[in-house]
Amino acid sequence: MGGQALITIFLGAPGAGKGTQAAAVARELNMAHISSGDLFRQAVERGDELGRKVKAYMEKGALVPDAITIRMVLDRLTQPSGQKGVILDGFPRNLAQAESLDKAFKEQNKAVSQVVYIKVGEAELVRRLAGRWLCRSCQTPYTRDMGHSDSEKCQKCGGKLYQRPDDAPETVKKRLEVYFGETAPLIEYYRCQGKLAEIDGEGDVKKVTARIVSAVGGRT
Ligand code: AMP
Repeated sequence: MGGQALITIFLGAPGAGKGTQAAAVARELNMAHISSGDLFRQAVERGDELGRKVKAYMEKGALVPDAITIRMVLDRLTQPSGQKGVILDGFPRNLAQAESLDKAFKEQNKAVSQVVYIKVGEAELVRRLAGRWLCRSCQTPYTRDMGHSDSEKCQKCGGKLYQRPDDAPETVKKRLEVYFGETAPLIEYYRCQGKLAEIDGEGDVKKVTARIVSAVGGRT
């Protein structure tokens, strides 16, 4: 783990704003941001062996098998980041992954420090996912309400905007089912460990960031 002290997990449904908030909080607190979804998407773009293995699961909105996911994330965690700690975004996604993470950390005398649970109501999740566009270069999200389309450019870096293929309505439904069935039980798992910080994820993006920074920042 290269001397990284704080390991913070961001938990929440698809569309809760985990990616956006993890990037903003990581910048503010000088932490590394590790997103399992981004690692998989990069592998798919490269078209390498990992990418070929995971593509079909992602397109369906299903979870990639635990063995592949756990190996990829633990491997990424061995790379030194030179930063104050790590934010894990999108991992763990079920109990087996959470237990594997705990076991691997125990062997290294480490532990998950804190879990930030970003809470957003279901109607708002669906609204956000259906209208979501992302910058291909820096992953900044935009909503359809802001009048963006495929041909427009990112206001931050000029990158091309695109809609994630797994944001199609049927796949969104599947991803939410997977979340409520497999990932939501982790809320209790971490609450029992006394590690859960519940954050209201609705409203102004910067205000949500400030709420998370004040929950996490006191510990850095
Ligand atoms: P995300 O960007 O976190 O919404 O992830 C996009 C897709 O990548 C998911 O729908 C899954 O197919 C896959 N994925 C990301 N993280 C995990 C994980 N921890 N376990 C299994 N599959 C994952």
